[in-house]
Amino acid sequence: MAVLRDINTVDALVDRVFSYNPESDANLLRRAYAFSNEAHYKQKRKGGEPYIEHPLAVAAILCYMRMDTNSLAAGLLHDTIEDTDTTVEDIKELFGDDIAFLVESLTKLSRMEFKTSEEAQAENFRKMLIAMAEDMRVIIIKFADRLHNMRTLEYLSPERRQKIALETLEIYAPLANRLGIGWLKSEFENLSFKFMMPEMYEQLVQKVAKKREEQEGYLDEVIKIVEAHIKAVSISAKVSGRVKHYYGIYQKMQKQKIPFEQIYDVIAIRIITDSPSNCYAILGLIHSLWTPVPGRFKDFIGAPKSNLYQSLHTTIIGPRGERVEFQIRTEEMNRVAEEGIAAHWKYKEGDHAEKLDEKYFAWLRELVRTQKETRDAKEFLEEVKGDISPGVVYVFTPEGDIVELPQDATPVDFAYSIHTIVGHQCIGAKINGKIVPLRYTLQNGDTVEIITSHGHGPSRDWLKFVQTQRAKSRIKQWLKIEERKKGLILGEELLEKALRKYNLSPSMAKSKEILDIAKSLKIQTYEDLCVAIGYGSISVHKIVRKLLPESEKIEKEKTPLKKEPQKSEEGKGIRIEGVDNIMFHRSKCCYPLPGEKVTGFVTRGRGISIHTADCPTLDTQTIDADRLVEVEWAGGDSNCSVKVQVLTEDKRGLLAELSAVLSTNNVNINHLDASTTHEKQALFNFILDVKDKRHLDDIIKKLSQINGVIEVRRVKT
Ligand code: MN
Repeated sequence: MAVLRDINTVDALVDRVFSYNPESDANLLRRAYAFSNEAHYKQKRKGGEPYIEHPLAVAAILCYMRMDTNSLAAGLLHDTIEDTDTTVEDIKELFGDDIAFLVESLTKLSRMEFKTSEEAQAENFRKMLIAMAEDMRVIIIKFADRLHNMRTLEYLSPERRQKIALETLEIYAPLANRLGIGWLKSEFENLSFKFMMPEMYEQLVQKVAKKREEQEGYLDEVIKIVEAHIKAVSISAKVSGRVKHYYGIYQKMQKQKIPFEQIYDVIAIRIITDSPSNCYAILGLIHSLWTPVPGRFKDFIGAPKSNLYQSLHTTIIGPRGERVEFQIRTEEMNRVAEEGIAAHWKYKEGDHAEKLDEKYFAWLRELVRTQKETRDAKEFLEEVKGDISPGVVYVFTPEGDIVELPQDATPVDFAYSIHTIVGHQCIGAKINGKIVPLRYTLQNGDTVEIITSHGHGPSRDWLKFVQTQRAKSRIKQWLKIEERKKGLILGEELLEKALRKYNLSPSMAKSKEILDIAKSLKIQTYEDLCVAIGYGSISVHKIVRKLLPESEKIEKEKTPLKKEPQKSEEGKGIRIEGVDNIMFHRSKCCYPLPGEKVTGFVTRGRGISIHTADCPTLDTQTIDADRLVEVEWAGGDSNCSVKVQVLTEDKRGLLAELSAVLSTNNVNINHLDASTTHEKQALFNFILDVKDKRHLDDIIKKLSQINGVIEVRRVKT
């Protein structure tokens, strides 16, 4: 970009503004400059220059972007409230409501900037988006401010440099990209790269210069051939070589894990013509001259990127067998690619958001909607970053509306993009009328129909295949709430039982004493305490023991709870409803069955694991006895796996007989491995699905009766 370093006086600024906007209010700009100069007169920049150079440079950048006069004035005034005695009222009185609004919004944004944690950064980002939704000019002025600060970053301490560069790379560059301002995104990235990895940056600059020199002759040759052919068909076009920006090259090296030497599209050839149809004509021409590389042709004219970028891209094998990338677009497309949202702005004195392209706003509205639904600022940041990535597929709703999703998105992503409830209740999907699994990868042009069922909830497994941050965060949110509900119920129950155990009244659960103990552990409410107990992050016994008088405390600690489930009376343990859900899971060591004595172990954050009462894993010598809880089955409602070992004579057809007995008794074989022992015996290791303990006992009996079976036993390790 022409950096406009030549604009170093307000006169030069006014001159430049008039070159694109003859109706601009020069007097307003001069007044703003004079006011800012006066307000900042005591201040110096970190580099030692008078402070006014900064607001002037910001206004110059805005002038380069051809922003309206009020934005330029706000650029000149942007640091006055923040750094001087000036108030919003002062600005309002002297420069009017619109400029005062812009300066005030910018002040709010910059006050956020100095926090350090990731969370705070996410919060900043959220604030920026909200400011942007109110008036896009705020963000553009903020961009100009940040750009000038980045250009003069060398004057700051190394620490501040790193921090600001990182923030620019993570927040400002993606936002500039999302708003389609190509030059700004590249400059943000290059400057951040330069300050974060100075050596790597320097190396790349040199390597690119060398490559450019080497390839110059070759590219000229290609350009001449293309120009001649375009001329021959009477199409007007400009053909030129352009170097990819340094950070883009660096990213490519990182992503593909290749050295600089193997990147062939460091220099691409750009062709700018006058109409979309001529873009395709030129593409056809190039493909007829050289062989296109398969998979490298991209039609962003037919399917623009979400930031409205349009162009044709193709890579061909050039005259000397080297790959060359072409980008073909119209003048207008090139303008949009460089200026993005700012291209829609020009000359619009006094006109604001309404005149902007509807599509940018659709995206913005969606973002604002998302941020309202997502409580967690960090999650929101992830979500937005995720949605900024370039690969997209376009699919259709049954009504024919187009939906844009990231590459590899699934029907679940689609469902969540329609509505959170549709996502939660999604149980199946039809693609072009045919039922597909939920993990199906959506293809361009698919028509997607979601099948929902009322009262249905998402599954944790979905997290393994969904692609959009929106779906991910919605699923996690749902699981969190669900887990909290279960954790709360379980925690309440554990607390009540522990109180009984120590001969305390269960009514103490909600007492002030308990709450005081909780508060000493930084837990503020009774609910949160129960959840923490239910999750296993706090031991219920440690809490309850604190309620005991000193003498008893010592005594009880000497005799920790023993696992004596045999003694437990009916109704004393926690009732397990359903197996393998969020709060309970059957342990895979002993495969406990409904109907038999079991013991629970409160894990950290994974609910309670259920073991058979005699499971060797529950040795109180090695595990924390405080975590053992009494549990009992509330009834087996589904099939449970269990390990069974069958020793037989090594005889043909025995397995068939075993299988027949199992299937006539409604037992499913989940897993089987067989081996023969040296004593001419066969050993079968089954994992069987049975209903409960009685069902298993019955099966063991029936299997034992088969001729040739030597021993049948359940395995608990
Ligand atoms: Mn500033």
